[in-house]
Amino acid sequence: MKLRVTAGGIVQGARFIASPNCDERPAGSAIDLLVVHHISLPPGEFGGPGIIELFTNRLDPAAHAFYATVAGTRVSAHFLIRRDGELCQFVPCGARASHAGASSWKGRTHCNDFSIGVELEGTGDSPFTNAQYRRLAVLTRALRARYPIRHVVGHSDVAPGRKSDPGPHFDWARYRGMIKNLSPQRTPRTRSQSRIRNRTAKACPERVEGTPSRQRKAKKR
Ligand SMILES: [Zn+2]
Repeated sequence: MKLRVTAGGIVQGARFIASPNCDERPAGSAIDLLVVHHISLPPGEFGGPGIIELFTNRLDPAAHAFYATVAGTRVSAHFLIRRDGELCQFVPCGARASHAGASSWKGRTHCNDFSIGVELEGTGDSPFTNAQYRRLAVLTRALRARYPIRHVVGHSDVAPGRKSDPGPHFDWARYRGMIKNLSPQRTPRTRSQSRIRNRTAKACPERVEGTPSRQRKAKKR
């Protein structure tokens, strides 16, 4: 399936569910980085409404013990690719989504300013699905046709030691093969980036930190 990105940054063919956890990108920001994450809510469970509820500030902290630790955080990636390959979009690509937190890439901090975030529904313990790789590759090509994306990295690459996703089960070589027209290729992992196995590093969801807009208290709904 081919995807098309509108001038406003909406992917035609995606299921759009608006998240309020976004704002304007700084003036003049080129969107040149794609950040791959993984997430599952509750952790290790697939297919439920938890991720969408989190990204739209509707997660019930009483519904699961883990939810109490993340409810109220105002986070969202631009996209979620579910296990069956379904593509959901929460934030138009032209807007800044709260997905990377404290982060840096090639000397530039605040990666949310210049990146697009894609969550794969998954964990650090198990492979991603064929449908997810296919959808991510098609999405990458579509985004590249609209934006000057130069690098595709993992959350662990822009927040080494703090974040571990998408984790060791994400097959970068396979993904690179599927998007071989995307150049330059993702740069080899450096020693500092290899610290993703640090046990303190956490998978998504992102915690409250970073930009002031993300530290505002969630409005009661
Ligand atoms: Zn992440």
